[in-house]
Parts: sequence; structure tokens; C-alpha cells
Amino acid sequence: MDRQQEFVLRTVEERDIRFIRLWFTDVLGMLKSVAIAPAELESAFTEGIGFDGSAIEGLTRVYEADMIARPDPTTFQVLPWRGEHHGTARMFCDILTPDGEPSLADSRNVLKRALAKASDQGFTFYTHPEVEFYLFEPPKADGPLVPIDHGGYFDHVARTQGHDFRRAAITMLESMGISVEFSHHEAGPGQNEIDLRYADALTTADNLMTFRTVIKEVALEQGVFASFMPKPLADQPGSGMHTHFSLFEGDRNAFHEPGAQYDLSKTARHFIAGLLVHAAEITAVTNQHVNSYKRLWGGAEAPSYVCWGHNNRSALVRVPMYKPGKGNSSRVEYRALDTAANPYLAFALTLAAGLKGIEEGYELPEATDDDVWELTDAERRALGIKPLPQTLDDAISLMEKSELVAETLGEHVFDFVLKNKRQEWQGYSQQVTPFEIKRLLQVL
Ligand code: GLU
Ligand code: MG
Ligand code: MG
Repeated sequence: MDRQQEFVLRTVEERDIRFIRLWFTDVLGMLKSVAIAPAELESAFTEGIGFDGSAIEGLTRVYEADMIARPDPTTFQVLPWRGEHHGTARMFCDILTPDGEPSLADSRNVLKRALAKASDQGFTFYTHPEVEFYLFEPPKADGPLVPIDHGGYFDHVARTQGHDFRRAAITMLESMGISVEFSHHEAGPGQNEIDLRYADALTTADNLMTFRTVIKEVALEQGVFASFMPKPLADQPGSGMHTHFSLFEGDRNAFHEPGAQYDLSKTARHFIAGLLVHAAEITAVTNQHVNSYKRLWGGAEAPSYVCWGHNNRSALVRVPMYKPGKGNSSRVEYRALDTAANPYLAFALTLAAGLKGIEEGYELPEATDDDVWELTDAERRALGIKPLPQTLDDAISLMEKSELVAETLGEHVFDFVLKNKRQEWQGYSQQVTPFEIKRLLQVL
């Protein structure tokens, strides 16, 4: 029993915790949970808890059904929404095979492997996500989606549920050790954004899984309905998860070089180049649903084209304005990601793309100052600006051929994602949509 594990056991006793939820994430990014009694904790730490992996999306093949979840004591937190009396706590788990090896199908392990690779090169990978989501009135069966307010970007919507919502959500997140940097009303009616403070990528991915749960819990409490769906309303902005990346060497930001263009170091330039070269092939994971492409191609500041720029909101990668004297805040913002992605896999792939740029010394093309949506196809071609995949189907075809994605995800996760996404595309393609009925039924 190490000190962290002992701390958990002591806290469980002192705080009258009756249930300990063991959390892990399936390949599609859905949170899974099994509750154990305090008496089981010690053996959960030493041996782990067995479960039937074949019932969990992508976790294992049927003939490897027995899997083990072993809690990570550093992730112990009491769940505030379950109350103080007879409380509930949670820990994230690593998934092991029956022989005690890290499971190749565990997304947390996929990210750990990618982070270990960065660490071999002396880097720690930090991420800072801007999470957008909509708040709706609780939906009635088949009724339209009704946003809770008519606010717009940065609006101070007084005395509405949205205001109280953000305050309640942030208070809950902070009480679970998740620091929030900014929050505001976003551009769409009922749309909100909460930005988490930067942390190492594994912590951020765990925090995002908690974040989604907290938002859903607070929504329930407040009688509203929250959704991270990338594009719930056809004529309003989608919900993205722009994420800021930086690499640190010890306590020095490896992206910062005073005096260089935008104070970006060579490391940062190669990293951005890596993101640009590999963006299209990782999109089936960073934007994993049919609906994700409605956001990417629906305007409203979601990126559609592969280019980078300084403060250019039409670019896929944006280098935010540099604050003099704040060298350690140098970072690059990747704007394609949406919150419906599996954050472990998405961070593993964006990191792998950036590192590849550094390893191979990819040259960074010129920054783009233009609004790339306003350019013609011919102008974009002349500038060498390619589109992101336009549909999930395009994204799958690009991912299929990607060595970088296969290597980073590992064969098992790679095959599972491709198979699952093909099924999603096929299911979607077989639909007869209201659009078709409206256009064709009467006139034909
Ligand atoms: N909602 C926009 C998107 O889907 C982003 C708006 C912004 O924060 O710039 O990416
Ligand atoms: Mg935003
Ligand atoms: Mg942003």
C-alpha cells in the first residue's frame, strides 16, 4: 500500500464515504462506472476489480472477456452532488488484462503511451480546453429544441438560468480540484463556454470526463438540459473544444523564443507543421461523429481549412496574441476538436502529430492572414490550403491509410474505431431525411 492509497483509505473512513465509483472510458469516449464498497478498496488497489470487458465498447474482443480495472489513487475525489452524508467518491482506473498488463484497448493507456514518448524526448504536454455546450429547456419527445435564453457572445444575461448555471457548475468543478479559467455566454442562444486551466494532458483528459458529468448533474439540478453535441441547431454555431497546446522542458516552455516571429521557437514551428500535415488523417478521432462535420462545415468560426495564423479565427491552428513577459504562456490553439471526442485518444493523436513534426523537422508554411472562408477554391489551392475532411466518410478513408494513427492508437483501438465509424456512416447514409422529403416528395 503506498502513501496515496493509504490517504484514500483514510479519507473514505473519515468522510463517511459509502460508495467508491471506479471510472474508466470506453473507446468512443463514454464514461463507465462501477461502484464498490469501502471494504473492497484495499484489494481494488492491489489486485484490481474484474469485469466483463466484452460488454464495453471497444474494450476487448469477446474471447478476452475478463478485464481488470485498477484505480489510480491520485485521482480520488468526493462527488459533491451525492451529498456529505454516506458520500460517494470516484477514482479513474487503468484497465489491465488478466495477466496484469496494461490493456491495449484502454484509451487512458493510449494517451499514457503517447505521453511517455514525449517524455523520452524531454517534453511534458500541457493542454487547456475551451469547452462549449448548449443549455436547452428539458426536451419533450419529438418537440423542437428550445435554448434557455436568447443571449449572444459574452452577453451578460441577467437573472437567467444560464448565469446561475455557470456559477453552480464552476463551484462544483473547483470543489473537485478542477480549476476554471474563464466562462462566458457563447454566440448561440443558450450556448455557454467554460475554459479549464491548463494541466498535463492526462489530467486534462480525466478532468474533461468529470466536466461532462458535472455539467449534466448541474443541469439536472437546475431543471435544464445540457448537450455537448457538436451541432445541435442547424442555423446556430456548433459547440467546439478549441484546445491550447504547449510543450514544456522542465519548467521552461519549449514553444517560447523571444524575438522570433510571434515569439515561437523552432520546436513550436515544427509542432504546428506536424499538426497541419496530419490534421486530416486524425479528424475521424478528433471529430468522431457524422454530426461533427455539420459543425466543421457550418461556418460560425469552426475551422474548415488546414492552415495556421496569428490571431486568425478562420485558421485551424491559431497562435494567440503573445503577452510580453509571459513566456511560459506561449501556446498554439487547435480549433478542430469537439467535446464529443474521446479526449484521451484526441490528445494522443494531436501530440503524436506535433511530435512527428519535431522529429522529422517539418517546415512550417507561411502564416495565413486572410479569412480563408472568403477565398475562392482557386485562391486556396494557390496558397496550398487544403480542406479538412468534409464528412465522416472522408475522414475514415484518410484515417485508414494513416501510419501515424495506427501506430499511436495501436492496432486494436485503430481497428475498432474504423469499424465503429464505418457503421455510423452506413447507418446515417441509409436514412431518408426530412430534407429529402421536403425537396422531392411533392415535385416528383
Ligand atoms: N463555436 C465555435 C466552434 O465551433 C467557436 C467560437 C469561438 O470560441 O471562437 O468552433
Ligand atoms: Mg468559444
Ligand atoms: Mg478559442
